[in-house]
Amino acid sequence: MTVTELVSYEDALASYDPVMGLEVHVELGTKTKMFCGCSTELGADPNTQTCPVCLGMPGALPVVNATGVESAIKIGLALHCEIAEWCRFARKNYFYPDMPKNFQTSQYDEPIAFNGYLDVQLEDGEVFRVEIERAHMEEDTGKSTHVGGATGRIHGAQHSLLDYNRAGIPLIEIVTKPIEGAGERAPEVAKAYVAELRELIKALGVSEARMEMGQMRCDVNLSLRPHGREKFGTRSETKNVNSLRSVERAVRFEVQRHASVLSAGGTIVQETRHFHEEDGSTTSGRIKEEAEDYRYFPEPDLVPVAPSREWVEELRGTLPELPRVRRNRLREDWGVTEHDMQSILNAGAVDLIVATVEAGADSAAARKWWMGELARSANESGTDLAALPITPAQVARVAALVAEGSLNDKLARQVIEGVLAGEGDPDAVVDKRGLKVVSDDSALGAAVDEAIAANAAIADKIRGGKVAAAGALVGAVMKATRGQADAARVRELILERLGVEG
Ligand code: ADP
Ligand code: MG
Ligand code: ZN
Repeated sequence: MTVTELVSYEDALASYDPVMGLEVHVELGTKTKMFCGCSTELGADPNTQTCPVCLGMPGALPVVNATGVESAIKIGLALHCEIAEWCRFARKNYFYPDMPKNFQTSQYDEPIAFNGYLDVQLEDGEVFRVEIERAHMEEDTGKSTHVGGATGRIHGAQHSLLDYNRAGIPLIEIVTKPIEGAGERAPEVAKAYVAELRELIKALGVSEARMEMGQMRCDVNLSLRPHGREKFGTRSETKNVNSLRSVERAVRFEVQRHASVLSAGGTIVQETRHFHEEDGSTTSGRIKEEAEDYRYFPEPDLVPVAPSREWVEELRGTLPELPRVRRNRLREDWGVTEHDMQSILNAGAVDLIVATVEAGADSAAARKWWMGELARSANESGTDLAALPITPAQVARVAALVAEGSLNDKLARQVIEGVLAGEGDPDAVVDKRGLKVVSDDSALGAAVDEAIAANAAIADKIRGGKVAAAGALVGAVMKATRGQADAARVRELILERLGVEG
């Protein structure tokens, strides 16, 4: 079925309610892999970070990475889950060349964390609770590169290359309970949930959760049921959706596709699907295996994980403030609207503004520079705000120079430009470029006299009482001093010279 045959989103919602299930995989930022000591560092030559354990050699024995377990418990706690007193790993048996053991070490019916929830805030401020089924530990597979075909997929490829550096990197899979009641806002809820989960994971410091780098990916399950019916419809599972926007689009597309099939009297097959960035569509993958196809059984080579209650409580004590709570607190402190806060968040500026305020700036100034001049600069160079070569302390120093009157905004922008260009700290740029507000009367006097002489008609108007006309003369002085004059002082001097009261 092509996109043009789809029923509209509105028509789909007029007849059906969407039910969603989101499965999010997060690659943990541990130094070593989940069951061996191999490095997890990105960018190494293929197959240089491998050993008998992660290559699945006979007789090699895995050992659980304690930091991996700790991260899983932290995630579970932050999601308000119960933490298992005792749980095991299980073998999920299947063959794929990127998985040299022929099974994935995962957890099946004994996840480390279960029964939780995450409250997500929608764009209009409404809070939607997403219930969490479980969060379990597992390992990543290697990476295959299919060479010679047009699509990069295995079909049509001439040969495939395998890199096992990623095999065995710890993953946490977080699975929601069926999400009901989102109605037409299902795509927005899905996106907000993944966004909130990403913020949470970052706040916990367990992963950078960069979706564009595959550190966090989402499988989107979706089904429709006619209004008023309780039983769920058959779901499809769109795999490996790897941006927030794509999550939203995948839900939307699947709602329309399911509705098209169902309204035409067809049936939905339970299958996995691929998402296509180009047009936001999905296409059929494989018919979905049932759990029994994997012949799960408890992993005999690993001891069960039995986190003591003392340890769990200790970890609970280390949890940071939840991102949503922190955001609301900052929004109130800063006195900004929900919408502005969203822009600040989207720009990745929250932590930078906080750090700038901690370095002494007031929040309005910190926001102004990060969301104005610096956002523009990041945009132009196509980098993240955080990657700009300027620190919050340097931005705070610029703000301080403005606050004390040594710089005006125009000069401050030049100082920032200098810092970004690698000319040194704000004070060094001020010195080198000679950027200082000139407020000293003897230095300004000559420029003021010249401006009056060159604009005799305007000067007459001002003498005649039209004080508002002084702006033109201030402008002339600012131009003559290349923006460095103290505008307020210039205005006073002009009025003084012309003998009128400000
Ligand atoms: P699988 O291993 O087949 O992917 P999981 O239980 O791990 O199964 O994940 C299925 C996801 O889909 C869960 O988030 C679950 O809540 C959700 N789900 C289950 N049934 C339905 C359904 N009929 N419609 C939409 N989502 C569903
Ligand atoms: Mg799944
Ligand atoms: Zn290894």
